[in-house]
Amino acid sequence: ETKLSTTPAISSDKLLGGLLSPNIDEQLCHSRYKSYQYRQKSPFTLSPYLTKKLRKYEAYHKKCGPGSRLYKKAMKQLKSGHNYENSQCKYVIWFPCNGLGNRMLTLASTFLYALLTNRVLLTNMGKESENLFCEPFPGSSWILPPDFPYNQPHKLHIEAPESYVNMLKRGAFAYHANASSLPAYVYLHLEQFSLRMQNNIFCEEDQKMLSKFNWMLLKSDSYFAPAFFLMPSYQEELKRMFPEKESVFHHLGRYLYHPTNEVWGRIERYYNAYLAHADEKIGLQVRIFREKPIKFEVMYDQIMRCTNQVKFLPEMTHSEPPMRNSSTNTKHKAILITSLYAGYYERIRAIYYDNPTLNGEVVSVYQPSHEEEQQTEAQNHNQKALAEIYLLSFCDQMTITAWSTFGYVAHSFAGIKPWILMRPDWDKEVAEVPCIKSTTVEPCLHSPPLLECRGKGTDAAHLLPYVRHCEDVGFGIKLY
Ligand code: GDP
Repeated sequence: ETKLSTTPAISSDKLLGGLLSPNIDEQLCHSRYKSYQYRQKSPFTLSPYLTKKLRKYEAYHKKCGPGSRLYKKAMKQLKSGHNYENSQCKYVIWFPCNGLGNRMLTLASTFLYALLTNRVLLTNMGKESENLFCEPFPGSSWILPPDFPYNQPHKLHIEAPESYVNMLKRGAFAYHANASSLPAYVYLHLEQFSLRMQNNIFCEEDQKMLSKFNWMLLKSDSYFAPAFFLMPSYQEELKRMFPEKESVFHHLGRYLYHPTNEVWGRIERYYNAYLAHADEKIGLQVRIFREKPIKFEVMYDQIMRCTNQVKFLPEMTHSEPPMRNSSTNTKHKAILITSLYAGYYERIRAIYYDNPTLNGEVVSVYQPSHEEEQQTEAQNHNQKALAEIYLLSFCDQMTITAWSTFGYVAHSFAGIKPWILMRPDWDKEVAEVPCIKSTTVEPCLHSPPLLECRGKGTDAAHLLPYVRHCEDVGFGIKLY
């Protein structure tokens, strides 16, 4: 008798309705198959077209990725010093910049770019980000092999001679140049300068030119995914991938970012110890920026002013309520605070100790860590940051700090439109309006592209019905 060996099928829920491929071993990456049990179900439908596109991308990545015959061939061409025509594989290599939230937004934007332009995405994670994320693509790796010849992040800046805009400016090629006459790689510099991204990037003829290069190095500090929606040539494809515009980072983030077992251990332990029993989980992310410091008392007052207006924290009363007989229908609410400092947590925990809640809810207040200082170069520090972004994303509602990419990633993962604690005007100490509700689940692009190719002074937010300015960053843009 012969028995057919069958691997137990992985349920559709586990695979986020088909967003994830089943071809990655569950043991290698617990979070990939367990997050769905902790998080709210996605409020967005998944387009079958996106699913198909991801499966196709995975096959392409495997065919052209590190270790493959085609990768070796492409590497040989790169080392030859010039570009080749009709290459089977094209690559975009992501280089890191700024903190974890920024990195997650720029890497997801780069992945979107790879999907739109048929490039294989490779990443230079840096020592500090090793051990954060599982490999996202089955049967291959997204880590840039260490022998890559142009692995010099310090050389990637606005003045770099390999930068596309600089090459264009000095006439290194003409727009109609043949692919084989071009240098072996191009650097796409997508960092903001005076809170704008350079002209000549999100323009049709520049994208056409850029597509001729087989190798592209890319560094960014901005969530530039929305900028592709401004380009007519990508709009049709994007519409099919994301019929709901505000789901771009939500889907791509859930697809790409799976904490390693080490980070997931932290997440699960914390969740089970402190959050699992709550009927409702309320996230509060308090971020203080060096460039616009806000005094503790001022920020604390702002949080209280916000909750007085919009009641994001359970309401309190000052008199003890009458005795209640039964505790069976008492609601338990957990407030999860993330911040580099312990002060907000201590204050908020104390007020729920000192005062009864208006509706008799039981409130517990938690904060997983208080690192005091940002230490982007430290692995352990980044692991905690990722764990906390994840824990926030398991909450049922959320309040985040204006301008913070850490907060954007958390609410967008969760599929939540958060309350945003507004930043005071540059010349003021106190924010006039304490908080505003975001109109969308999408993160904000702080530094929109200069679109001089569309005419001087073009306001990206006025081009399309689904692009608008951000609540917290007035000149920024976001999809909704
Ligand atoms: P942004 O600066 O707020 O846009 O977010 P980033 O994530 O890019 O950079 C902030 C970095 O500071 C994080 O990556 C963490 O390293 C650290 N950090 C900021 N807030 C927190 C927090 O609440 N918890 C932890 N563990 N780290 C934080």
